[in-house]
Amino acid sequence: MTLPKMNRVLLKLSGEVLMGDQQSGIDPAFVLELAKEVKAAKETGLEICLVIGGGNIFRGMAGAAQGMDRAQADYMGMLATVMNALAMQSALEQIGVETRVQSAVQMDQVCEPVIRRRAERHLEKGRIVIFAAGVGAPYFTTDSGAALRAAEMKCDALLKGTSVDGVYDSDPKKNADAKRYETVSYGKVLADDLKVMDASAVALCRDNDIPIVVFSIREKGNVAKVLSGEGTQTVVTD
Ligand code: UDP
Repeated sequence: MTLPKMNRVLLKLSGEVLMGDQQSGIDPAFVLELAKEVKAAKETGLEICLVIGGGNIFRGMAGAAQGMDRAQADYMGMLATVMNALAMQSALEQIGVETRVQSAVQMDQVCEPVIRRRAERHLEKGRIVIFAAGVGAPYFTTDSGAALRAAEMKCDALLKGTSVDGVYDSDPKKNADAKRYETVSYGKVLADDLKVMDASAVALCRDNDIPIVVFSIREKGNVAKVLSGEGTQTVVTD
């Protein structure tokens, strides 16, 4: 499917992709490679908002499964997303891309709070804005944070860069015959519980007409390819 002309996108990266080939944590060399991808996408003339997950460091659900209080564990997860945002900011600035981090959990010494109008101004000035700490509340994920910021910042699409190259009718890692959808509706994703993003994030995108483009971020040059319509991807739309 050819995507409509886009001026502003929200790029969501799972925390996992920041660990490169490691088992957890941050691989700075790999983050630099990701930063180059983001820079290439920006050089096509796009305004870019970024949201990065925290799963490479800590997930609230995992903490809760080991007996922690869920809300407390979720706050730890939110802090993990701030660490990832700072790592990405550092990599982007290393290659000359001005970047600001805005966190939904206030951390004045480290980054700005989320202020929509200020974020607008940063984008106008050609900066990339990284939104950290999801929606700033426990029991949510950074997918919901990404959908919320995409709506708030009036992004033309939410690009979800993950380790799989789209949405399949069954798990491609378990089933060799799994079929990838070119396009799939929000309704089908929700009804069949297809693993794209969590349901609240998909519903928010549906309610605000934001197409979700799912693609593999592990393949070099893929962000630019996806944007030019030459990539392998799944578009979730009406
Ligand atoms: N989190 C949260 N509220 C939010 C965003 C994130 O509580 O609005 C916590 C939650 O514990 C989550 C963790 O932060 O597991 C890391 O985010 P996520 O799991 O979305 O990261 P990803 O899977 O994209 O790496």
